[in-house]
Amino acid sequence: MSTTTELVGRGARDGRRLFEGWFDDLTAAAEEGRPAAYTFVMGSLCEVLRSFDMPVVFPEIHSLQMAVRRVADEYLSEAEDRGFSPDVCGYVKADYALQLRGGEHPMGRIPKPSLAVLTNACNTYLKWGEIWERLYDTPVMTLDIPGTRRPVRIEGMGPGNGERDPDGQERDRRYVEGQIRELIGKCEEVTGRAFDVDRLREVMRLTNDMAESWRDLLALNRSRPAGFDAMLEGTIYLGVANVLRGTEEGAAYFRDLVEEMEHRTQAGVGALGGRTEERHRLLFVGVPCYPMFRRFYELFSEWGGVFVSSSYTWFASGGLDEPFAYDLDRPIESLAEGVLRSVRHATDSLMFQDRALIRAVDEFEADGVVYHPIKSCRTVSTGLAASRRAVLDARDVLCLYIESDMMDRRVVSEAQLKNRIDAFFEGLESRKRRSA
Ligand code: SF4
Repeated sequence: MSTTTELVGRGARDGRRLFEGWFDDLTAAAEEGRPAAYTFVMGSLCEVLRSFDMPVVFPEIHSLQMAVRRVADEYLSEAEDRGFSPDVCGYVKADYALQLRGGEHPMGRIPKPSLAVLTNACNTYLKWGEIWERLYDTPVMTLDIPGTRRPVRIEGMGPGNGERDPDGQERDRRYVEGQIRELIGKCEEVTGRAFDVDRLREVMRLTNDMAESWRDLLALNRSRPAGFDAMLEGTIYLGVANVLRGTEEGAAYFRDLVEEMEHRTQAGVGALGGRTEERHRLLFVGVPCYPMFRRFYELFSEWGGVFVSSSYTWFASGGLDEPFAYDLDRPIESLAEGVLRSVRHATDSLMFQDRALIRAVDEFEADGVVYHPIKSCRTVSTGLAASRRAVLDARDVLCLYIESDMMDRRVVSEAQLKNRIDAFFEGLESRKRRSA
């Protein structure tokens, strides 16, 4: 029987180890000159790429790690010296400078792209693919995923429009399926290997396993106290979910993580451990402030604030939070449905997330919602002010709206953030006192 000592913190430790292992594998691929595929977290086509045993690079993830490791400034400046505007997404600029430096990264070496696979989930993806095309002549496969076209939108994290428009959904699914079949042909060309449908099935089965655990994990954080901080630990878990999607290691990691969280829930071990009592249950909206990631977290945790849920773990999980499992009897058809649903879910989550947030306020019994729009990313920041108004109209919670960036320290002011965050908690404390 596992004890508290063995279980608590195991997910964070193992997550770091697996993440470092992923970077080690990429370094080995770069040194051996093996063909690597690049893909993105929203609309990840990782299952197809993995079925060809290609090392898979997630450029957003290696870029954000440069900010976490506090070297992003050098890379951003190098890209800006070559003409990129300060307004352009920091992930792209960091990756561009990394390519100019032969893949040099603080955690290893990133191999060059032999194939890039992207979707229209974010318009920056399209321009980013063009950079690799220009630098290396990399073949770029862009999958056009039709968005939700009716004024019927997701409610909470439930199913999208498809259920209400089955004919349109099936037409769109077939359209995506055709593009996936083209992608498979391109992978055969790049790797010189024949496509193996049973290998794809196996990878998809492992993604199904991981997705089931992912949903359990997110739901377990409804407990009081919540077992993990969805902004801090949630981001580590999200990283592992993306880079180890469709692998044995990834599926096992999330099974273990659910075991840890069940234990924490039963034993009442909260995200703040024994250090501070959970005083305020918060929702986080957007992407964290990586240039001062730990400190950013502390500005909330020092007040007993815990992020019980985060929109990041919805829209950047490649659809893992959706109640959907691949049908392994019709893998390519089902993969098309999965990609269609996950991209729509991500973009609907971004555009209409007030409904998901209102539902999350109820389900997670949140006292406050923290909006963190960032300079780099219009895709995740647009509409947050309107979302805040909608949430405030619908629920009796406090909302905080703070701006910074996920890469660029020049627009991050700890003192300003602290002032606003302290004032927010003073408001929450005073509400608590009044209601007591
Ligand atoms: S613009 Fe936003 S969503 Fe698009 S790549 Fe950059 S950070 Fe990601």
